Amino acid sequence: MTKQELVSESDLFLLDLDGTVYIGDRPLCGVRETLASLRAMGKRLVFLTNNSSLSESAYREKLARIGLLEAQDGVYTSGMAAAEYLKRQFAGARVFLVGTEALKEEFAAAGIVCDDEAPDVCLLAYDTELTFAKIRKLDLFLRRGLPFLATHPDDVCPTADGSMPDVGSFLAMFERSSRRRPDLIVGKPYTAMGEALLSRYHAERAHVCMAGDRLYTDMLFAKNNGFLSLLVLSGETTREMLAASPIEPDAVVRSLGELL
Ligand SMILES: [Mg+2]
Repeated sequence: MTKQELVSESDLFLLDLDGTVYIGDRPLCGVRETLASLRAMGKRLVFLTNNSSLSESAYREKLARIGLLEAQDGVYTSGMAAAEYLKRQFAGARVFLVGTEALKEEFAAAGIVCDDEAPDVCLLAYDTELTFAKIRKLDLFLRRGLPFLATHPDDVCPTADGSMPDVGSFLAMFERSSRRRPDLIVGKPYTAMGEALLSRYHAERAHVCMAGDRLYTDMLFAKNNGFLSLLVLSGETTREMLAASPIEPDAVVRSLGELL
């Protein structure tokens, strides 16, 4: 479809962060103007990230500081989606959360009880405060057969210096030590975060558009959830990678700044 058709079909835009709306602390060229125009057209905007190391409020602060966020916009992380999933599918369960203090606070505010000694279910989030004591404990609970969830599958997280190990790298370690893979991964490209978004924003999947720069997370997330997909070439994906991929986005633009 054309980019004009895609915009007119979409009521809710899910916006990936790194490589799509900003790189590091720098908003990509023309993105502010595009977002302002989309809001003026009555479109709803939700900034969406697999990174579960920071809280919603930390992302709101960053996006507002660099001039990308308006009060009516949403911010959603795989950590928030994991909290929703646990409340629905593991109601009342005690959770062993391998995550940052910021995520633990968010879980407490959501009414989820964390328990490091006798949990019912384990969740591995992007714990940038990971210690050997936490690694050892998660491995023990996994070998005991507790249900095992992870917030997202990304191997690495982009930084100004290249990349740093992310949850997918941690998962490789636990696969070696406990012979377990997660029973469910919440974030992109899977469906638990998609379902959580649809219910939170009362949106119809055919009118939701995922805009992002990665084929195997953002674009596959759109396909797996029945959303429209908009690939931006301002981040990871090149035209060569797109040509070689079986994933075909509904529309492709050089950057979000060139959408309208
Ligand atoms: Mg990205």
